[in-house]
Amino acid sequence: MGRPRKIRPEQDLTDIKRDPIQTLSGMKDVLPEDQKYWDFVVRKIHNLCQCYGFKRIDTPILEESSLFERGTGKYTDIVEKEMYILKDKSGQTIALRPEATPGIARAYIEHGMKNRSQPVKLYWIGPMFRHSRPQKGRLREFHQFNFEAIGSKSPGQDAEIILLSWNIYKGLGIKNLSIQINSIGCLDCRAKYIATLKDYYKGNKTKLCSDCKRRLEKNPLRLLDCKEEKCARLANKAPQIIDTLCENCHDHFKSVLEFLDELNLPYILNPRLVRGLDYYTRTVFEIWPEEEKAQASLGGGGRYDRLVEELGGDPTPAVGFAGGIERIISKIKEQKITVPEKEKPHIFLAQLGELAKKKAMKLFEELLKGGIPIGASFGKDSMKSQLKLADRMGISYTLIIGQKEALEETVIIRDMETGNQEIVSGDKIIQEIQKRLKSFK
Ligand code: AMP
Repeated sequence: MGRPRKIRPEQDLTDIKRDPIQTLSGMKDVLPEDQKYWDFVVRKIHNLCQCYGFKRIDTPILEESSLFERGTGKYTDIVEKEMYILKDKSGQTIALRPEATPGIARAYIEHGMKNRSQPVKLYWIGPMFRHSRPQKGRLREFHQFNFEAIGSKSPGQDAEIILLSWNIYKGLGIKNLSIQINSIGCLDCRAKYIATLKDYYKGNKTKLCSDCKRRLEKNPLRLLDCKEEKCARLANKAPQIIDTLCENCHDHFKSVLEFLDELNLPYILNPRLVRGLDYYTRTVFEIWPEEEKAQASLGGGGRYDRLVEELGGDPTPAVGFAGGIERIISKIKEQKITVPEKEKPHIFLAQLGELAKKKAMKLFEELLKGGIPIGASFGKDSMKSQLKLADRMGISYTLIIGQKEALEETVIIRDMETGNQEIVSGDKIIQEIQKRLKSFK
């Protein structure tokens, strides 16, 4: 930070050079040149989620912070270290959502969705906020897509969620991915496993990082996915939860894997995969780029059979997935995947004079409503500069409305290649354009 500047009493404040304000650390603008990636990814997510029968839901960015404490878990990194918490003017403690599932489960309960046909399949796309240390692939504001099937305990439902997530990445053309999968059992078998795990670590406590020493008391499963080398070495030799699963959890997991085998999905059994959140039960999985480690995971999900009940609803089994959009876009760029350009308009609308501008704006609206992509620049007044812009955009036909045309309710159609112009009556213009656009289809 620079030294504070002294302001002389006679000095006009506007004389002082203002320091430019920048985005907050870990937050990013999405510039026009990057929008095509976002359109490509988001369109794929919408299309596939709808194909699989998921309906879109949007939930607020701000929620009561207790929703995440009860849902995600008080001793998870997300809630303990990363949640943006603030007090609003009424003194209520609220949080910028750090993840979507608790909000979706809250909405399921709040809107009585248990009375709808089960499972209720919902999908969601939006921004997320976590105050972690910004680094490659880790932002403080990032975007996720989620899909959740609430109200089914069937292993087939787990498989459908895994299949849909896989198909989204594959559909975008991303290569070299793997599905990492594990089961963390139900409350009963997990309690037994945690006791075994604590036993194993008892003699090794001094070899753990300071976070893991704390986790051993509060959230021992997280010892298994610590990225510190010394902890990872210990975790690799730790007893595996799969050996402690009760019969029901074992059968459920076996059945999920049979579905994946049948679907030819390339999964890898990963006994160290636990996912960081309290609400998971049984199946947990992540999608990883093969050449990288868990830090670069593109998405993850699993079953959460206790969350709805935990938030005050009836016991309701559920399974879901969350993927990060920024990481997908990095992969698309890294793997040089061709992304379709936005459909370019073939028509441009130019105007000259006040009355013509008004008429042109109205026509512009009508054409857009009629689904005809069209360009215009109502901020430019000179015909020359508008035609120059149309030329740069590679436009095929420019519609011109000047003072005379505005009064006579006509439009000039100019063929940009030949320079030929034709006058058309205003009420025939849409028909005329559609006729010309047919040649581009
Ligand atoms: P999580 O909710 O932590 O399981 O994250 C699901 C996915 O969201 C991850 O696999 C990432 O693709 C993405 N993600 C999570 N945290 C961040 C972050 N801080 N910055 C960017 N993407 C993230």
